[in-house]
Order: sequence, then structure tokens, then C-alpha cells
Amino acid sequence: MANQDDKFKKVISHAKEYGYVFQSSEIYDGLSAVYDYAQNGVELKKNIRDYWWKAMVQMHGNIVGLDAAIFMHPTTWKASGHVDAFNDPLIDNKDSKKRYRADVLIEDYCAKIETKIEKEVKKAVKRFGEAFNKAEFMSTNPRVLGYQEKIESTLARMAKSLENEDLADVKLLIEELEISCPLSGSKNWTDVKQFNLMFGTKLGASAEHAMDLYLRPETAQGIFVNFLNVQKTGRMKIPFGIAQTGKAFRNEIVARQFIFRMREFEQMEMQFFIKPGTQKKWYEYWKETRMKWHLSLGMGADNYRFHDHEKLAHYADAASDIEFKFPFGFKELEGIHSRTDFDLKAHEEHSGKKLQYFDHEDNKSYTPYVLETSIGLDRMFLAIFSNALQEETLENNTTRTVLKLPSVLAPFKAAVLPLVKKDGLPEIAKEIVDMLKWDFNVAYDEKDAVGRRYRRQDANGTPFCITVDHDTKKDNTVTIRHRDTMAQKRVKIEELKEIIKEEVEIRSWLMKMK
Ligand code: ATP
Repeated sequence: MANQDDKFKKVISHAKEYGYVFQSSEIYDGLSAVYDYAQNGVELKKNIRDYWWKAMVQMHGNIVGLDAAIFMHPTTWKASGHVDAFNDPLIDNKDSKKRYRADVLIEDYCAKIETKIEKEVKKAVKRFGEAFNKAEFMSTNPRVLGYQEKIESTLARMAKSLENEDLADVKLLIEELEISCPLSGSKNWTDVKQFNLMFGTKLGASAEHAMDLYLRPETAQGIFVNFLNVQKTGRMKIPFGIAQTGKAFRNEIVARQFIFRMREFEQMEMQFFIKPGTQKKWYEYWKETRMKWHLSLGMGADNYRFHDHEKLAHYADAASDIEFKFPFGFKELEGIHSRTDFDLKAHEEHSGKKLQYFDHEDNKSYTPYVLETSIGLDRMFLAIFSNALQEETLENNTTRTVLKLPSVLAPFKAAVLPLVKKDGLPEIAKEIVDMLKWDFNVAYDEKDAVGRRYRRQDANGTPFCITVDHDTKKDNTVTIRHRDTMAQKRVKIEELKEIIKEEVEIRSWLMKMK
């Protein structure tokens, strides 16, 4: 655990030191769970968004984009269920006065049991060596089976109690499991209460005529209310999708863990409108397709897993999360939800407008079903950034900090470095920058010894360093060094564009989804 905490602390401090993420309003001691993206962070974030947009919208003939407003008519949130049901069950510890999400306390308890299972597996690997069969061990070892049964029964009971809004039983479960406050160690809990997560605000100048509004807690509803407009004006035929990226706001109770859980964050969502009855097929299709998108970034299949929901939201008939191994364990990164016709039907009811599709093949109208994929851009940023940050021991026993970002997402694709700050080398280096900047984001760096500049670019995640030296003046060649292998090669200046392009262009990365 200490190790995980250390790693996470390094992630946060590196993000600040290298201009990726700052605490919001830091000079006023910050605002809790609100963050700003700095000069490098904004580039990484934009590249992630573009990578998603390319894969989701531009590579699909039947998916189009949308940019709906953050403010929406307040009835939207009545129809969507957010006014009545967008609550988290919260519980306070009477001694530490800390507030927790009751379901998170129980989930964390289960995560601890899971660590025990992992320990048993590790022990068994040692004991049995080559002959070890993990699947067999997991399905026969009595201790592991006991742990698994405990996790399953705990989560099932929690799901049932939450579904039945039996908050007294959620508290009872916390007491029976003897869960204590991580801060004070005390088991002195208040009752569990529901807490609405939407931020309210007002539209209009005078108090008596002001209209109560909410900051949208998800981007999805902007898509639903525009469903018919897009379908008609884009002459879209089912199945088709509408995608958008944008800010969402939630007054989260447990707002720790850096940009994992923020009060203002960005979502990348796609709603896929389908014929009723085909939802199972599309649910499987989008689970698989979204996982392929993640894997195309090369961050390792072991770092992802599906988590199928037992407790379904009020709008869903099936739901699964893609979880990622963050420095603090496996947590939700993306949700794939089969939302039925809940939303469109609810908006029909509340608006009195028909939101149906006329199917020319079947010659009849129906309310489409919806398959949703929803990913947090900030969470994706954290997944990528934390996975990329590595300490390496080199052959000469020195260490280097390297940010092995997928190069398609790196803020800068190359840094151009004159070996010395004289003899016309800076001028040539700047010419190279001018040549490359049409195609890539490139940096120029002339300060400090070249070795230190390499280290700085490694820590910043820049895939290529291009060094201009005295030979460049003679034969128009430069040294190109790769961040990950540190291998250096002498190449002609005119070859640079192709070399960089081959490694960083979206095409070669997204091709891996095929
Ligand atoms: P969680 O269970 O972690 O609260 P959720 O199930 O409420 O998440 P959804 O409503 O399904 O999340 O939202 C879709 C995605 O939006 C999530 O998978 C996550 O990546 C992102 N997301 C949700 N809440 C936050 C937040 N407070 N900060 C950052 N990202 C978030």
C-alpha cells in the first residue's frame, strides 16, 4: 500500500512540476477537487480527445458529433431522473467528522479481500512454480473460494439494499463488516442518507423571476433532447450514433484521488440509437470495440478488466465498466450502458413531443433503444499519465525518470536541440522547428548540457530529440534519439518528417483496433 501511495504522490508531483496539472486557484490555497490543465496537460488532454473523436466519429459513417450547451431546460433533469434519483448514499464518521460514500466504503472493503486473494495466488505461484494453473487454483482453493464468496455476497447484499432504498441495511452491513473510518479508525457511524449531486444555479436578473437551473451532471441528455433534430437534419438511419465531449459537474462527496474524481470534469460520450430487441448484440459490440480502442494505446492488456454491474441504474438493462489499474487499484474508467428507451420515452412524456423514428424497412414508428459508451476524459488522462511515469535504472547504474506516453498522445512529438548555443547551430535548429511545426507540435531547447536536455524531454514524454551539431553544417544530417530505447541514429534533415510521422500519426495507432 505504501508503495502505491508513493507512486501516486509521484504522479501528482510530476504532473505539477512538468506543467501538466495544477490545483485550481492555487494562490488562494486551491479549490477542492477542481483542477487546471497546464501548458503540457492541455495538449495531452486535447490529443486524447482527438484520438477518441477520430475513432468514434470520423471513422464511423453512421456516427456524428454534437456540442450541446451546459445549461439545459430544468425539466430535462426531471425527465432524466436526476432530480429524484441522482443521489449518492453518504455516511459520516462521528469521530473524524469525515463524510464517505457508503457504497465506496463497502467496495473498498471488498477490494481488500481481493488483495488477499492476490497474495494467495502469489504464494501458490512460488510453491508450485511452472506447474501452477491459476484457473484451477482459483476454482478449488478453499481459502480463495471463501474470499470470493464473501465478496460476492457482500456486493449482492449492498446492491439489493441500494435498489430497495433500504439505507438502514446499508448501515447494518457496514457495521457487520466492522468497517472503520480510514482516518480515525472509529466505527462510530451516522445513518446513511441520500445526497443529490447536482449543482444548482439561477438564470435571470430579478430574484422573483429567476429560473432554477442545474449545471449538467452528464453530457448524455444534450444528445437525447437533440435526437430528432440530428436524425432529421442528418437524415440518419438506425442504427446511428451521436457523440459529444464536454464538461459535466457533480458535487461529489468523496472528492479525493486527484483528477480521478473531480467536481468539474469532462466526458466523452456516444449514444447509439438502435432497434428495440437488438440491444444485447450492440452491448457486446460496443464493449468489445471500446476495449480495442483502449488496447490500441499499448498500455498493456493486464491493466484493463470488465466489471459487469449487479446494481443497475434506473435507466439500464445491462451495464459494464471498463476498469483500469490506477496507482490505487482497479477502478472505473469507462461505462458501457444499455439504456433501453428510458430517456427518449421520459423526454416524450415530459415535453409532450414525439421522439420516434420511422423505420422505412418495417414501415412503422418506434422509440429507439440506446447503447451508451461514456468515458471520463480526465480519468483517461490519469490512466495514461500514471501508467507512463516510470523510473528506470540504466546500465551505468544511474536512474532516469521517463514519461512513456503513447507517442500519438504526447504533447510534443519532438524537441530540437542545438548541441551548443553558437556557431550557427541554434539557427539551423530553429529552421528545423519551422519546417516541422506545420505537421507536429515541436519544442526548441538550448539550455543546459545536451544530456540534461535529453532527461528533461524524457520526463516530459517527448518521443524524439533531434540534435544539431557541427557535422549538420557539413552534410545536413542530425542525430535523432528515441525516448524509450534511447537509441540514436544519424539521419538526413529531410527524412525527419517521415520518421516522426510514422511513429506518431493517429492512423498507425488506430489501425491496431482492426
Ligand atoms: P463513479 O462510480 O466513479 O462515480 P459513475 O458510474 O458515476 O462513476 P458515469 O455516470 O457512468 O460514472 O460517468 C461516466 C464516466 O465519467 C465514468 O466512467 C468516469 O470516467 C467519468 N466520471 C464520472 N464522474 C467523474 C468525476 N467526478 N470526475 C472525473 N470523471 C468522472
